[in-house]
Amino acid sequence: MKIKTRCSTCKEDIVFFKKARDRAHLAKKIGKKVELKCTHCNKTAHYHLNDVKAVKNSTYLLTLLGIMMAATVILVLTIGKYLGITTNHYVIVDIAIIVTVPFTIYLGLTSTHRQKVSEFNAFWVD
Ligand SMILES: [Zn+2]
Repeated sequence: MKIKTRCSTCKEDIVFFKKARDRAHLAKKIGKKVELKCTHCNKTAHYHLNDVKAVKNSTYLLTLLGIMMAATVILVLTIGKYLGITTNHYVIVDIAIIVTVPFTIYLGLTSTHRQKVSEFNAFWVD
């Protein structure tokens, strides 16, 4: 999970990565406060878990998109070879189905990611 907070000194974003379902789960693993060092001003401070929030991991989402696009191209090329390149409308339907499957998987995974981010942010620790 990509987690972000704001540096108490310079107000720049501090980003760190932790595997956790929510704040309560993270508190069990590392305690209610996390020590973070700002990469902008090099100040180290303790931040309460309620002051951090999960954010969408764009790198993860872009990597997923890349993998799904590559999978689509590979599927179209390998299955397309067996089908032959014609203007036969059944081939076009097959290719549409081939393209739909990775795209649907991508949408499912991004939706799951968005859900995990909001679940993390929904729970607060005392
Ligand atoms: Zn700072």
